[in-house]
Amino acid sequence: MVVTGRRRSLRKPLPLPGVAEPRAVALLLSERCNNRCRMCIDPDALRGVDCSGLVLRRGLLRHRALGFTALEISGFESLVRPDAPELIRFARDVGFDRIHVITNARELARPGLAAELIASGADSFTISFHASTARMEEAVSGVRGGFGRKMRGVRNLVAAARQSGRAVALRANVVILRQNHRSLRSICRLLHRLGLRTVHLCFVSPLSSDLERYYAQVARYGRIREPLRDALGFLRDHGMSYQVVNVPHCRLRGFPQAWLHLRHEAPSLRDTPTIPRVGETFLRCVRTSRKRKPGTCVRCRFTRACPGVDDCYLERFGAAELRPIPSPERERNATGAGRGRVRP
Ligand code: SF4
Repeated sequence: MVVTGRRRSLRKPLPLPGVAEPRAVALLLSERCNNRCRMCIDPDALRGVDCSGLVLRRGLLRHRALGFTALEISGFESLVRPDAPELIRFARDVGFDRIHVITNARELARPGLAAELIASGADSFTISFHASTARMEEAVSGVRGGFGRKMRGVRNLVAAARQSGRAVALRANVVILRQNHRSLRSICRLLHRLGLRTVHLCFVSPLSSDLERYYAQVARYGRIREPLRDALGFLRDHGMSYQVVNVPHCRLRGFPQAWLHLRHEAPSLRDTPTIPRVGETFLRCVRTSRKRKPGTCVRCRFTRACPGVDDCYLERFGAAELRPIPSPERERNATGAGRGRVRP
């Protein structure tokens, strides 16, 4: 990433997904990735050259002086950078007290790396995890042969977190795609076997300004309904904690216990403070997600809580899948409960 000035980095910080602290800044460790995931912003836009450690250290010091206390580390793939543990230790030493790492876990197959990251100060991890078989992993990640390393990486991380004796939070992020939506339950089962106990199931977001990339990956809400309910049943039965991201209440109408776990986000680097600052060239590849609702949503009891669905989804597929959920009272009236009662 290119550092082009201070102004944007000095903006008022916003809460980041996955980091509860309001004073959080994103540290973009690397411009390289060992995957070519189909739902990525645009893997071909990567310059393939990482920013110097000196620039990142200066950015960390500057943001600490501004009062930031939490760090969310990503990149394209953060851990391809060899000095990742060193930079995490530096961040901890200068006073960041919450350090969250997002990774696809493949680099964690390197013996000792997971333990080193935790010892350096990382205290929570999100693992991008979208497949239950090697073939599915290849279909999603766009590269061959990474599944075995990913499995070893997750096992190493789970073992290192247990051995650290510290409270290290681990969670998996599963993006729901055309290639994996029928296998959501198997993916959750595999995550459970690997020792993970927190899962976020995320309906794919249109991250790239090239919308054809999104349309090629998105599975319709109508198609994911049954597999999603099946996966949620598994998570519930196995006591796992979960969130469902970017799915409106009406698409989980038959599974109301999941309504408390729904979350919507409009991911965009545009308004997020980052180290280094994200350049305009890169931002041209990023789509700012906008949510929309059809007019019928005013009749839905969740109309205030629900922002709707991505605008480009609605434009391409229409609103027929979004059916308002009536208030309990209207539902009772519609089903005829109370009919025939004698009025006082
Ligand atoms: S407000 Fe609209 S999109 Fe949201 S749950 Fe209700 S019907 Fe569905």
